[in-house]
Amino acid sequence: MGRTAAATQARERAHLLIRLAAIALGGTLVLLAGVGATSLAALFLVLYLAAAVCVRYYPPLQRAPFVVPVLDLAAVTGLVFALPLALGPWILYAFAIGVAALRAGPLGAVAATALAVVGYDAVLVARGEQARATDLWPVQALIAIGLVTAEIVWALGRQDVDTLWSRIHARALSGLTRQREPEEVLRTLVHELARLQSVQGAWVWAIGPDQHLQTRVSAGAAPPAELVVSADAARALRTPSALERIVPEMAGLSIPISLEPPFTIGVALDPIKDDDRAATAGAIHDLVGDASSLLSAAFERTRREADLRALEETARAISEIDSERSQAGVLASTVLGAGRVAGGRAAIVRPSDGTVVVGDLEGGPVAELARDRRLPAVVGASAAPLAAQALGSDATVAVVSLSDGRVLAAVGPPDLLSARLALLENVARAARDRLALIIERDALQLAATELGRDVQSLGGALRAKEDALTTAVHELRNPLTAVHGYATLMSRNLQAVQGQLTQLERLMADLLSAEQQTPGDDRPVEAADQARQAIARARIRGARVDLEAPAQPVRLAIGEARFAQLLDNLISNAIKYSPVGEPILVSIQLEETIGKVSVVDHGMGLPTEHLGRIFDRFYRIGGTADAVAGQGLGLSICKEIVTAYGGRIWAESAGPGRGSTFSFTLPLAVAAATT
Ligand code: ADP
Repeated sequence: MGRTAAATQARERAHLLIRLAAIALGGTLVLLAGVGATSLAALFLVLYLAAAVCVRYYPPLQRAPFVVPVLDLAAVTGLVFALPLALGPWILYAFAIGVAALRAGPLGAVAATALAVVGYDAVLVARGEQARATDLWPVQALIAIGLVTAEIVWALGRQDVDTLWSRIHARALSGLTRQREPEEVLRTLVHELARLQSVQGAWVWAIGPDQHLQTRVSAGAAPPAELVVSADAARALRTPSALERIVPEMAGLSIPISLEPPFTIGVALDPIKDDDRAATAGAIHDLVGDASSLLSAAFERTRREADLRALEETARAISEIDSERSQAGVLASTVLGAGRVAGGRAAIVRPSDGTVVVGDLEGGPVAELARDRRLPAVVGASAAPLAAQALGSDATVAVVSLSDGRVLAAVGPPDLLSARLALLENVARAARDRLALIIERDALQLAATELGRDVQSLGGALRAKEDALTTAVHELRNPLTAVHGYATLMSRNLQAVQGQLTQLERLMADLLSAEQQTPGDDRPVEAADQARQAIARARIRGARVDLEAPAQPVRLAIGEARFAQLLDNLISNAIKYSPVGEPILVSIQLEETIGKVSVVDHGMGLPTEHLGRIFDRFYRIGGTADAVAGQGLGLSICKEIVTAYGGRIWAESAGPGRGSTFSFTLPLAVAAATT
């Protein structure tokens, strides 16, 4: 068994101390012996002292096997010779035996005893006249001392070896306990094993399927990186075995250190004696045993950390999915999150036709694995030929159902997928919920938009009805005013009252059937005829209105009621905005395809900037015109009618106080018929 340099040094110091003690004792004996022997004994002591110091500080002398014990015994024998026997010189032999024992172990102690007995006998022979040869007790005492010393030295040596081992063991353990990762534990263990005496090298075998061994971490001598072993050797790997059973050309040990994953430690040993081998094997077993529990703790911690990370990834994926606002966003986040949780790639696939909705997996193989299977499931790609070909036969796929005939599939490390299936399901559930929510939101939004559109058109219809009502009220006012005038003159012109009532009825009928009425349905009118009737109605109100018309009839493509409305509105305005009694002229002109009608007055006129706007609904000119009652509707109604019948209306005025001319054109009835 090896000794460390420090242990050797301590031992050498002990030798020197014992020798110095021997010299001190020898010196005392010399002094007690009396003058006769002193000079010789003193000489022996000085020589022994010089020799002891030389041996201590001149290592080559220590290495020569017999120099030191021979020196010790020679010195002691010289002293015993020089001193009187009665002083117990055998004590000096005891020192010699002790020193020899320290140097050469129990065997040295026994050998030194034998030499001491021989030396003692030699002294007896040399000093025959003083000694009795039959006096054997010192010899017996020397033998007893030798045997006891040998026993003590053996015990001390044993303890020393044990201490050495436990020191190595403690150092290795403290190195091992500092490691957190399984890989680090294995590396430290292998390095510590390789440092042991008689160990050529150490390594870790990862045991794969089909009796396949992979050398992972190694220090010193090691087998090849990849190895396929016999079935017998594979069996031997499951228990501590002789290395020779696994790799015949190497000697040493193999000790399983972990079952999940399956790892075995291999240690190659020097060719050593069986005893030493047993001691070394014991130490290796102890170290591997301790490392095994540290390794399983490290694996457990790594697993827990990975589980924690997966949980965090799941939570992150779910919160990302929940923050998505579109279906496409939800699907993309789901695929990304599932990939992270599974430690691989993911995709959303429609098994019915193998289309990939989103993700970077091939749709066909995934569809093949997912079809007709109860989900969720973890499936080996080897279960389907297409999948085995596309993903590799040793790939594994986790499949969970999503919604709308789609599945979420993830490819990752097989052991991880089974552990993470529940987490993948959580991701899929979050995606399903979010998708349902988004679909519901979209439907609600659509409904709201349609409702908004309905409300808008309803509002439009309501406004149109309101406009029609306002128009009706305005239009009813003109004939009513006339009726009022006629009523006062009833006795004179009942027929005119009749005419106005007819106009009222027509208007009411028009208003009631406003939706059905379209321009072109009416019988055409003769402009001059109608103008004369309107002038007659105006005259009732006391106005002076004249007509200027061509000799030939001007037949316009417009209904009688509408034309009467136009004329009544324009003549009524001319009356309203002119001083009482001021003459008004209605002029009719015939042009190529149109007829033009103008109402000319000499009233308050119009500022130029208002000419374009007075046809707007509810538009009224402030100032003088405000003195006249009105709602700003008459001209807008005229414009609507003229425009509806394909004509144009406009106003002209030389300025305020200088009269106005309101003109409109309408297509001629014949021309309209031909176009
Ligand atoms: P109102 O009911 O106010 O007469 P109209 O639409 O008929 O509504 O006319 C709009 C505005 O045009 C009037 O308020 C008035 O200021 C101006 N206007 C209309 N006709 C004449 C006219 N013949 N002479 C001067 N101003 C007129």
